[in-house]
Amino acid sequence: MIQLYIPLNFLGVLYREIKQNLTDLDKMFTLMEREREIADAPGALPLDTTRGSGIRFENVDFAYDPARPILHGVSFEIPDGKTVAVVGPSGSGKSTLGRLLFRFYDIQRGGIRIAGQDIRAVTQSSVRAAIGIVPQDTVLFNDTIAYNIGYGRPGASQAEIEAVARAAHIHDFIAAMPLGYQSMVGERGLKLSGGEKQRVAIARTLLKNPPILIFDEATSALDSANERAIQAELQSVARGRTTLVIAHRLSTVVDAHEILVMEAGRIAERGTHAELLAAGGRYARMWALQQNEPAPAAA
Ligand code: ATP
Repeated sequence: MIQLYIPLNFLGVLYREIKQNLTDLDKMFTLMEREREIADAPGALPLDTTRGSGIRFENVDFAYDPARPILHGVSFEIPDGKTVAVVGPSGSGKSTLGRLLFRFYDIQRGGIRIAGQDIRAVTQSSVRAAIGIVPQDTVLFNDTIAYNIGYGRPGASQAEIEAVARAAHIHDFIAAMPLGYQSMVGERGLKLSGGEKQRVAIARTLLKNPPILIFDEATSALDSANERAIQAELQSVARGRTTLVIAHRLSTVVDAHEILVMEAGRIAERGTHAELLAAGGRYARMWALQQNEPAPAAA
């Protein structure tokens, strides 16, 4: 078997692209090649988050392909320990913001700073160590559930794994299996629902204990009880961490410090939930539409 030593977060980012075309290995390797092109600046020091982890995007322009600009002059700030949520139509550039913060790609103009440090001036590994990602689709390995959770911090003890599984409310589910934490995950083993996979991702993030969190909300609808429960768990994980939420449902964003409404790679509106409702613009229309949508059926 070929072992691919790729950081999990990188896989998470790649996953959507790979999933779209499982056989397109060329594309996967092209993307991995690009990953290597993003090199540390000579003499780069590690990112220092000892005095906070506030994030600033300053006038960011970005294109995956020079012929097709994606982001245009995007500026926003996430103060240390606060949550900013991004909403907007599919393809407007929401997930791209998370990929750029993780420095999966370099920007063409402007700057991205964490605690005042340009992410291009510090080591890539230290930026990634400071960020936990709860992706849309969590990558699970054909291994035990304990391994899958422990991936958040290699060397974690069984007691630590159980503690985060409890915090992510997945312990009871695991403990009820005949093999418990040694149950295999995957095709022939434990099959996890979308909500359970997100709980594994939350548990991993708790183990990693990063100061910054990117939550790329799953597009697939969970049933509403599960959605509320996951939301509550995420809020507790996000407490005290600088958090970027890429939201597909507006219910997730109501309490955010600021909400950015993206449209075609630009911030079209911004403000708190109350401010945006009062403004009666795009956000208010999206909110009104979503209130009329029937609740998704239980899985
Ligand atoms: P969704 O709500 O559907 O997840 P989004 O707002 O998060 O969408 P992004 O994933 O940021 O949108 O994509 C913004 C644009 O960038 C889209 O037009 C998309 O096709 C393009 N894009 C995304 N990833 C890549 C890539 N790896 N290479 C080239 N173009 C890409």
